Amino acid sequence: MSRICGTEQPLVFRDSKNTASIPLLQDPIVNLDHGDPMMYESYWKEVSDKYGVSTAIPGFQCLSYFANAKGLCWFLEPKLEEEIKRLHNNVGNALVRDCHVVVGTGSSQLILAALYALCDSLNEPHPIDVVSAFPYYSSYPEMIEFVKSGLFKWSGDARGFDDKDGRPYIEIVTSPNNPDGLVREAVVNGQGGMLVHDLAYYWPQYTAVTSPAHHDIMLFTASKCTGHAGSRIGWALVKDEKVARKMVKFIEINTIGVSKEAQLRVANILEIVSLSCQRHKPRELENFFEHSRNLLAKRWRKLREAVENTDIFTIPKFPRRYCTYARDFTEPYPAFAWIKSKEGTDCEKLLRGQCKTMTRSGERFGSDIEYARISMLSKDEEFEMFVRRLAAIKM
Ligand code: PMP
Repeated sequence: MSRICGTEQPLVFRDSKNTASIPLLQDPIVNLDHGDPMMYESYWKEVSDKYGVSTAIPGFQCLSYFANAKGLCWFLEPKLEEEIKRLHNNVGNALVRDCHVVVGTGSSQLILAALYALCDSLNEPHPIDVVSAFPYYSSYPEMIEFVKSGLFKWSGDARGFDDKDGRPYIEIVTSPNNPDGLVREAVVNGQGGMLVHDLAYYWPQYTAVTSPAHHDIMLFTASKCTGHAGSRIGWALVKDEKVARKMVKFIEINTIGVSKEAQLRVANILEIVSLSCQRHKPRELENFFEHSRNLLAKRWRKLREAVENTDIFTIPKFPRRYCTYARDFTEPYPAFAWIKSKEGTDCEKLLRGQCKTMTRSGERFGSDIEYARISMLSKDEEFEMFVRRLAAIKM
């Protein structure tokens, strides 16, 4: 599907004095619904041109199902494991010591693998409740309800959840959160609670790295760390060996491992990111996180200016925190903007009609229609088109 497609609805643009009306029949629809990380393309283009990053794999390699026959995760490429650990150590966002690394086809596969692994050994007569504080990542209910598992079921907002005298449940903690970018902790804190920490956005371009995370199950993904969503590589850091083994089993039954080509490509990419973080890096190699952070900072500034120009929308403000990676106080620049329109209006519809921009309605995240989620990770031209249109909205 093309990301910018043709138009159906006429749109009228006005200048800042509200005098001229320019019909924008030719203007394309901008799709900021998905968090497709195309923002990163320019960095990787530059790096690939200079460093010839390629993972051309000769026809005789990568034939085997196995990558690491003796390891717990038998399909995990040792080079990828090494680069994952190196990057976490460089950034300081997760403790990898004593953790088992499980690779998945995106962290999406690992979410289901983790739920299976946590529930399988409990032998509960009823499916285990899975909750997450609203607004929650819209794929959690979708993926959990889709599989109709007998082991677990989606039970919605964690804040209203009653843990019923220590009965087991799973809370997914997304921090920083998708869609609203807030830093989060578990909210239920019941006796029977098992936690899955989805840390897809716990990287220094999006938020301050305040301390190395060391939770039972932590999920990361190349999609949001480096922008390589197309490689479909995610990884879990898992403390408990039994849980890690069950996650591996799930992936074995589901897809008999994870593409080796994709793993080697991401290993290569992570190696470059780590190199770009070194003090003695090659001069022409820009620090990946600083570069990405600057890009996001510019976009957030433009978005805030555009929002201030309208009296229809608001977006959240975030506190500055000390980032151990940047060694400074930094402002968060989340991958999504959680925008709210005036009381009683349908934000997604408004943005679609007035800005010709597709966003995701708050309803999909367990919230209201007054909210919508806007991806901040699109290509530059799409983002620019969107903020120009947003600033020109008059109602
Ligand atoms: N968790 C969160 C919070 C996400 O936002 C996403 C991607 N939108 C994922 C998991 C899944 O990422 P992927 O499957 O591409 O690794």
